[in-house]
Amino acid sequence: MTREYLNYINGEWVASKGNEYRENYNPATGELLGKATQSTADDVSYSVSMAKLAQREWRNVPAPKRGEILMKIGDLLKRDKERLAKILTEEMGKVIVEARGEVQEAIDMAYYMAGEGRRLVGQTTPSELPNKHAMSMRVPVGIVGIITPWNFPIAIASWKMFPALVSGNTVVWKPASDTPALATKFMKIIEEAGVPKGVVNLVHGSGSVVGEAIVDHPDVGVVSFTGSTEVGSELASKASKKLKKVSLEMGGKNAIIVMEDADIELALEGILWSAFGTSGQRCTACSRLIVHKSIKEKLTERLVAKAKELILGNGLNEKVQVGPVINENALKQIKKYVEIGKQEGATLLIGGEREHIDLLKDGYYFQPTIFTDVDPSMRIFKEEIFGPVLSIIEVNSLDEAIDINNNTVYGLSSSIYTADVNAAFRAMRDLQSGIVYINAGTIGAEIHLPFGGMKQTGNGHRDSGLAALDVCTEWKSVYVDY
Ligand code: GLU
Repeated sequence: MTREYLNYINGEWVASKGNEYRENYNPATGELLGKATQSTADDVSYSVSMAKLAQREWRNVPAPKRGEILMKIGDLLKRDKERLAKILTEEMGKVIVEARGEVQEAIDMAYYMAGEGRRLVGQTTPSELPNKHAMSMRVPVGIVGIITPWNFPIAIASWKMFPALVSGNTVVWKPASDTPALATKFMKIIEEAGVPKGVVNLVHGSGSVVGEAIVDHPDVGVVSFTGSTEVGSELASKASKKLKKVSLEMGGKNAIIVMEDADIELALEGILWSAFGTSGQRCTACSRLIVHKSIKEKLTERLVAKAKELILGNGLNEKVQVGPVINENALKQIKKYVEIGKQEGATLLIGGEREHIDLLKDGYYFQPTIFTDVDPSMRIFKEEIFGPVLSIIEVNSLDEAIDINNNTVYGLSSSIYTADVNAAFRAMRDLQSGIVYINAGTIGAEIHLPFGGMKQTGNGHRDSGLAALDVCTEWKSVYVDY
């Protein structure tokens, strides 16, 4: 049975008057799952006006009470964890164990931000003058526009939405076009938890219509976006003309460094997971492996052997380790980069093809792919592929490894495997990324620390952690004479 996914505006499930729909498919089987209403700028405008109305009351609900509602959302997410994980796997292909992990992130985020409702602290300072009281407080920006990607459809939505809600904002949310089912289920939980009408509004549709309308609307105070650097920079230039705040989380070209003294087995585990988990479709995925010359041969041999053993298939099967990629376009894009890599003179060690196994013929599968002899002049070294493609680069020293890591326009996540505490601390200091891992892969960030990157990965704002509150609040300083 195909489902119909509707907008949720001011507490009501409604289709766009435009009467257009977009179908979504299970990337593992090609099966049609449902169709989502495709909204117009008018739908956005209506949801913003409802969010504005709801704002008047919501901003004055005591923050601890707003936190209690988040606590309830956390409980309901926990209750429905397995169902949510299944929808996630069916809709975007990540394997079920990863899907459960992602839902858990949303649960953790709900409980974490619920507590912030009791903390939203400001400062009280001595005044320069007698009989005067000076203090600062966080106030909500007002309406937060949230635009989320398909690769972490519930975790990233929760990183952005829960801080916005606890600090008194209302929300207009555009989920990714490829994941309307998960967005609908998440919205139903928010509704069941008792979030008042108009406080969270879900609007399905394309980035070019709905996303743009959110950015353009004068009443949307801040836009929080996760997606490609290309789209993010366009949004940012539009928003800057309106002096609107934007929080951007975008591309990555993340690297793992393996030094000669590293625990090789530990490193192998981290490399496989970081490069091929979620079929390489994480902004934190490792796409560059920087290896010390003395262990390169051994590490490469072991890595290729292990990558060959990875089980590809429908992520609902608990044994499967690598699921499909999101859609046909993604497959084409990944294949294009494999051809570019070959033409540039890199050596293909394994993979490079769409998976042809009969059983998988209807899904968007791509083999785990490893190139070696890659150098910084190549496009496969520089550009984000967003698929299961790893490039190996050989280095002679820690200095060279750090330089190679930093030789990218992006700066999200980096990792080093070493037994040398001095090398670890140097790396911690010198790797130019928002997240650094020592003796772990480039993925698996936790929700209570700031998530985001430097350089063209982001614009300094952070999702998650306490830093997320800076995105959706303003500081107000208050002086009281008495
Ligand atoms: N939570 C993911 C991780 O740390 C990153 C989210 C993303 O790739 O967009 O690996």
